[in-house]
Parts: sequence; C-alpha cells; structure tokens
Amino acid sequence: MNAQSLYREVLLDHYHHPRNRGDLVDVDVIRRGSNPRCGDEIEVGIKLSGDVLTNVQFRGRGCSICIASASLMTEAVAGIERRRAHELSMRISDWIAGPEGNEEPELSEPLQALGAVRANPARRRCVLLAWEALGEALASLPPWPG
Ligand code: ZN
Repeated sequence: MNAQSLYREVLLDHYHHPRNRGDLVDVDVIRRGSNPRCGDEIEVGIKLSGDVLTNVQFRGRGCSICIASASLMTEAVAGIERRRAHELSMRISDWIAGPEGNEEPELSEPLQALGAVRANPARRRCVLLAWEALGEALASLPPWPG
C-alpha cells in the first residue's frame, strides 16, 4: 500500500469512527468553526487540569475531511501541555496552507495523513477548521504562569 492510500484509509477510519465526538460536557472552553463553502460546522471543547489538556472533544457536522481532521486533532492533543498543543496547531496550519512538497517529518504518523489533502487546495479549510477552533480555545484561556 503506498502512502497516499494509507493516508486515505486513516482519514476514512476517523470519519467513520470519530474519536472524542460528543456533547462537550465537562469542558472549560468551547470554540466554533465554520466553513460555509463546504457546509462544515463544528465546535471544539477543551478542559484543562493545570497546564495539561485532559479532555478534548468536538461536535457538529462536516465533510469526511473535516470530521477526520477533528477526530485526529482530539487524539493528538489530549494529554499534552497547552503550550505544545498550541505549537502543534500552528505547525499544522503552516504546513497545510504552505506549498506542496513542504514536508513535516516531525508530525506523528496519523497526522501525516492530513497531508493527503494538500494536493487539493479547495479542501484545506476542511482540514484546518478543527485546528483553528482549538487554537482559538487555547488563546481564550488566561495566560499560563511563567
Ligand atoms: Zn469540508
């Protein structure tokens, strides 16, 4: 199986079995993102304990890429520090919005699958919606000490 079809498998799996999709109960902050061109509309909720994201959920509707990206995002940032989650969301945005061929070897394996969409600029918003909502949720929190 080549990388592209493997990535497609990962995205389809997360679309059909989204992780951490729920009612956003037990979260501290909720931020919404919408992509009218595609009809994507999601909300991301996060909960922190100290500086660590202990609960990350999303709800809403969207195309397969939007839902798969949101699902991948919740898995990638749950259990890590907010500073690192913020860095990751910035890195994903730069990568997806950047020129093709611009690789991101530092991303974890499942997140590499999001790169399958880079060949199709019209769908980039679909990928970024959940990550932008995450970034906004993190930015809305009071600054961390130190
Ligand atoms: Zn979409």
